[in-house]
Amino acid sequence: MNLLDFNQRFATEAACEEYLCQLRWEDGFHCPKCDSSDAKRVRSARRRDAKERVSLFECKSCHRQTSVTSGTIFHKSKVPLTKWFLGAYLVANDKRGIAATTLAQHLGVSYPTAWLMLNKLRKAMSERNSNYSLDEKVQVDEFYLGGISHGIGKQGRGTDQTTVMIGVSLTHGAPQHCFMDVVDDTTTETVLDVLERRVSPKITLETDGNPTYSACAREMDITHTVTLSSDESAHEVFKWVNTLVGNTKKFIDGTYHGREEYKQLYLEEFVYRFNRRRSRSSLVDRLLNTCAQTKPHPFIATGGLKQNLACESL
Ligand SMILES: [Zn+2]
Repeated sequence: MNLLDFNQRFATEAACEEYLCQLRWEDGFHCPKCDSSDAKRVRSARRRDAKERVSLFECKSCHRQTSVTSGTIFHKSKVPLTKWFLGAYLVANDKRGIAATTLAQHLGVSYPTAWLMLNKLRKAMSERNSNYSLDEKVQVDEFYLGGISHGIGKQGRGTDQTTVMIGVSLTHGAPQHCFMDVVDDTTTETVLDVLERRVSPKITLETDGNPTYSACAREMDITHTVTLSSDESAHEVFKWVNTLVGNTKKFIDGTYHGREEYKQLYLEEFVYRFNRRRSRSSLVDRLLNTCAQTKPHPFIATGGLKQNLACESL
């Protein structure tokens, strides 16, 4: 859908809310408290902009009133849904990753508001990424982001650099899905924790000669193939890992101006896009669906950028 069509379709709060209803309750409304599907629509004059919005659902069993945004990342947001939807469109359609300053200009919101919106969208992407388990053959490696390495050969911990674990699943040599995790170290315990969250239990693991991976493969009882970095074939074997690392660094350099603790969220955006690169035309629908299924994240709103939050809140 082009921008003009999108704007026409989601021109009003009611249009956005009706669409959210469809995404959240495909088979009709279900009460989040008692799961009853018997509900009536009620209008509450006390709601902000009540006239422009779709009515609340009131459960006939437990009488709980539910708005379509409650329990989603849009919960209690003071930003109109029309702006959220347009924001999601812009994020989905800018594959280099849109900057908060640009988003703020396009939406007519303050920089901190745009920054919070972006990070909530990234958090939704992150939740969706966590549902993926890479399978078949999975290549795993680690790389370093940003900062200056103090001393030759010293990387990762104890420097300004961030260590990132990367995994890419391959089918007949072609990349399928990936994950990226910021890690404090690359001990067996840490690497195992990442692998157990991100890959299926029956993968074939392919790595360089780092003994940590051998230890993890033994622990997980999975097949492990090793190609040493010094092997002539290493460049060809790990070409997709290397390509992804290169692209990630470009993406992070272009968009990342934030605080250390949010680096994982930037990586999640990259991973989300990569894993859906074959369905780019429907990316905004998928992103809105992800938002509708993702619980609110108040910690983001109270976390970063506190110093700048003397402006409109989310
Ligand atoms: Zn109920």
